[in-house]
Amino acid sequence: MIVLGVESSCDETGLALHDSERGLLAHALHSQVAMHEEYGGVVPELASRDHIRRAIPLLNQVLTQAGISRGDIDAIAYTQGPGLAGALLVGASIACGLGLALDRPVLGVHHLEGHLLSPLLSRTPPEFPFVALLISGGHTQLMRVDGVGSYALLGETLDDAAGEAFDKSAKLLGLGYPGGPAISRLAEFGDPGAFKLPRPMLHSKDLNFSFSGLKTAVLTLVKNQTTNICEQDKANIARAFVDAIVDVLVAKCLTALKETGLKRLVIAGGVGANRQLREALNEAARKRRFDVYYPELEFCTDNGAMIAFAGAMRLQRDPQAATKDYGFNVRPRWPLEELRAV
Ligand code: ATP
Ligand code: MG
Ligand code: FE
Repeated sequence: MIVLGVESSCDETGLALHDSERGLLAHALHSQVAMHEEYGGVVPELASRDHIRRAIPLLNQVLTQAGISRGDIDAIAYTQGPGLAGALLVGASIACGLGLALDRPVLGVHHLEGHLLSPLLSRTPPEFPFVALLISGGHTQLMRVDGVGSYALLGETLDDAAGEAFDKSAKLLGLGYPGGPAISRLAEFGDPGAFKLPRPMLHSKDLNFSFSGLKTAVLTLVKNQTTNICEQDKANIARAFVDAIVDVLVAKCLTALKETGLKRLVIAGGVGANRQLREALNEAARKRRFDVYYPELEFCTDNGAMIAFAGAMRLQRDPQAATKDYGFNVRPRWPLEELRAV
């Protein structure tokens, strides 16, 4: 069965084709980062309009890459939420319009389920059950995952998401938007002991996170540099920031593994691309004898492949999950725990 995936929840238009027998056939992505950069963040109306422009050319691109035609698509999965309402509506209407035209069923997918299952697309996929750390631009959650749709929340951020902390701290250092990858690169040149930043909720005894104080601490450090802040100061602050956030993320993962008794840890979402975090987790996994799994780097941030794949996983387990009722509604807010296990 060939599933077309359509992702448009924020500022990436992603299209992909997944075949239940052959795996991922093709995927294509257009990132709007350059367009939103001058505003320092995503402008929703511009995002929606750009998804409209990009979707069909990207669809044609993946069909050509896969060497198939529209008629070969068996079902269409689209991101139904959470995300920006206007952006979601574009993807949903394109998916449902195509479904209607091709007489194929459609299926709304939860964006975070897409992120969560994306490590299963890699060469060495984890088996269920596992502990998942979802660290994206809008979410930071630890979950116990027992199967597709079976997600129990263990802990989450009380304020900023991890990706948001990366982006906001990067912005304070003048590193542009989104600054996660840039602050990570700069940290490589930083002196590890030069500055010390707090590790919020490290000893809170629960599995929740809080990152807004960390960002404020970065701001204070930046302001305290009385003379013009030099490149080395910036690198040192970047290093202090990355060390602090990595420490907290790793510690909470270890606690979650201990509390659940599970031996598999899965990382998902954009911050999962972070090098320092991967190094620290790999080191912890060697010492504590658990297995850690990541998505391929290109599938950490938003993409169509994870949506096609999550749709395919659901359809494999429940062929009734897709419908030919093409009246759609999107869910800009949609708690992951509301999903049904299949
Ligand atoms: P959500 O999925 O919660 O709706 P989102 O889709 O915007 O949010 P993702 O696309 O999963 O989030 O991830 C984007 C985030 O990942 C950004 O905050 C970005 O800075 C961060 N990020 C990407 N690469 C890295 C990296 N190498 N190091 C740190 N952060 C990174
Ligand atoms: Mg994005
Ligand atoms: Fe995302």
